[in-house]
Amino acid sequence: MKKQVNIFWFRRDLRLSDNAGLYHALKSRLPVIPVFIFDKNILDKLDDKKDARVAFIHEVIMALQEQLKDIGASLKVFYGFPEAVFAALVSEYAVEKVFTNHDYEPYAVERDQAIGTLLNDSGITFHTYKDQVIFEKDEVMKDDGTPYVVFTPYSKKWKSLLTAFLLKPYPTKKYFKHFLLHESSSIPTLEAMGFQPLDHTFPSREPAEKTIRKYKEQRNFPGIAGTSKMSIHLRFGTISIRALAKQALSLSETYLNELIWREFYQMILWHFPKVGKGHAFKKEYEYIKWRNNEKEFGRWREGKTGYPLVDAGMRELNTTGFMHNRVRMVVASFLTKHLLIDWRWGEAYFAEKLIDFELASNNGGWQWAAGSGCDAAPYFRIFNPYLQTKRFDPDFTYIRKWVPEFEEFGYPPPIVVHEFARKRCLEVYSAALKEKL
Ligand code: FAD
Repeated sequence: MKKQVNIFWFRRDLRLSDNAGLYHALKSRLPVIPVFIFDKNILDKLDDKKDARVAFIHEVIMALQEQLKDIGASLKVFYGFPEAVFAALVSEYAVEKVFTNHDYEPYAVERDQAIGTLLNDSGITFHTYKDQVIFEKDEVMKDDGTPYVVFTPYSKKWKSLLTAFLLKPYPTKKYFKHFLLHESSSIPTLEAMGFQPLDHTFPSREPAEKTIRKYKEQRNFPGIAGTSKMSIHLRFGTISIRALAKQALSLSETYLNELIWREFYQMILWHFPKVGKGHAFKKEYEYIKWRNNEKEFGRWREGKTGYPLVDAGMRELNTTGFMHNRVRMVVASFLTKHLLIDWRWGEAYFAEKLIDFELASNNGGWQWAAGSGCDAAPYFRIFNPYLQTKRFDPDFTYIRKWVPEFEEFGYPPPIVVHEFARKRCLEVYSAALKEKL
């Protein structure tokens, strides 16, 4: 006789505490098998087999397994295609229900539809929950029922709809005894999945209270550790957004606003999935005649443009998989406006390198910088990297760290002169947008 169970499927919610879908699974009638799949559809597309994100997930999955072991339960970990994994699970167990949390990215939406159909065909119900955001899909809409495309009114509505209930943690711990109790099962090694183990130190899971308290004053200076570094944890759900938003609410409105930017971009991707498939949010920006010079793109990637702040950012990214937000804006503006290289090239490079890569925020950030996004920087606002340095890295603390040779002979001259690049950009953009200079 097959064992009767329910399943909880972990994806980008890799924690036991305050997890919406897990809570509902544990409250269901049957013992729960927790499952994680190293998805071949995603992993096979990663060319660089030294991927810090895969290493991070692996580390977190091992830690989850230890936590579950203490409870007497075990995570079932697979390396495969989700449909095949579920087909196997369904043949091994008498599954009544599968629980999981929403994922809004286009690939995930398609995958979940396919899994839902597969399960329903076997008479199994598929239950999905909101977990990684406070508001999702069409929960924050304009009064006329259409989605916001400008951040400030969206954030005002977001705040007006917030209640204490929405920040309440899901008390999963109370129901841990409802996990299926069984022997710990093995986890595939990174090598078995074709990846190399890495010696990478990831940001700690807890944001420093001091950082959030001083966030408004410090967040723009890449030379100081003034931001929370929560992005990787929000990406993979190793921290609860409810807990973080609660902290933000009591400590810093500016910090809360950044969390709302994250939801704004997720909402945009949900309503306008074309932006996640390579399309400009504003159609007229498709007519820009990008120069797309491969050599210059190479120099930008390597951090050898001769603009110290740009180079520092790219080297930080290449070395650590992270880049300070202020510098992300500067390097993205530089690529699209100074070098006139298609924002999609930069977006793809960031997607490959960022440990906190998230389709919605990355796309939002790039389209913001290029001017093609919703609520983007106007096309004629072109960051001057020297002025940005003067304002945000006046003592060159950040630049010295990543480009120590910047004042020495041998550091390359600027790849393009700022004033010339500015004029060229204005001409090319205004021609595409048919606007008078
Ligand atoms: P903090 O400043 O401490 O902010 C706290 C949290 O708020 C962040 O972890 C993040 O979840 C959210 N947040 C902050 N700023 C933004 C923003 N502008 N847009 C959306 N959410 C924000 N963020 C990603 O998480 N993944 C990406 O792939 C990504 N790509 C970007 C690409 C470009 C070109 C730009 C300009 C920005 C991008 N961002 C991205 C947004 C932002 O740069 C990072 O979220 C932030 O630098 C992460 O560091 P932190 O956790 O210390 O942020």
